[in-house]
Amino acid sequence: MFLQRFDPVSSTYTYLLACDRTKQAVLIDPVLEQRERDLALVAELGAAVRWVLDTHVHADHVTGAAALKASLPEAPPTAVGMACEAAGYDRPLLDGDELPFGDEVLAVIATPGHTPGSMTFHWRDRLFTGDALLIGGCGRTDFQQGDAGQLYDAITGRLFTLPGETLVYPGHDYRGRRVSCIEEERTTNPRLAGRSRGDFIALMAALDLPRPRLIDLAVPANKQAGSLPQAV
Ligand code: FE
Repeated sequence: MFLQRFDPVSSTYTYLLACDRTKQAVLIDPVLEQRERDLALVAELGAAVRWVLDTHVHADHVTGAAALKASLPEAPPTAVGMACEAAGYDRPLLDGDELPFGDEVLAVIATPGHTPGSMTFHWRDRLFTGDALLIGGCGRTDFQQGDAGQLYDAITGRLFTLPGETLVYPGHDYRGRRVSCIEEERTTNPRLAGRSRGDFIALMAALDLPRPRLIDLAVPANKQAGSLPQAV
């Protein structure tokens, strides 16, 4: 079972994966403001949430991880990459970790660069790339200890080496696109296709993007898995 939901304010995708037999489930990148939607979805499916995961410490929205854990009967553990240094999560994730849910397993691939702790989650033929690899783009590398060289190495070395038909489900899309695949990104992604590591670093350094509106609220809240009371 697989569902993709969208938060229009932050353009964030939240994913629910579940084992068809046991209904054990995983939530990826929940948004605090959408917690009632996510709780209703879980209840409607009769799912038992085993893990609430964030791909990284987000700067553009507050995660719903802690709020969902507090509201779900299973009180599922929250998890994020260890290198995010986010003390409010239950489980610091490392490259190669495997998270079981029912008959299914989700594998953790370290894809640092947007943030040091950014992880991609791999389930069946699908990748949940957070803000590492986006459809026709990639996460920015100009704050939160971003590193364009690391991001290039992670995307080209860890993601583009997977089978071309592997599906890419991003953390955001600002144009309504819901899914891509590795082959498409490897061959057409304008930030990466045909670019050397040096080209990519120069391109990322020249982007000159505005500072995210919510960064000063979101990053401290998200280090606590989104449990900052004034953020609710
Ligand atoms: Fe991000």
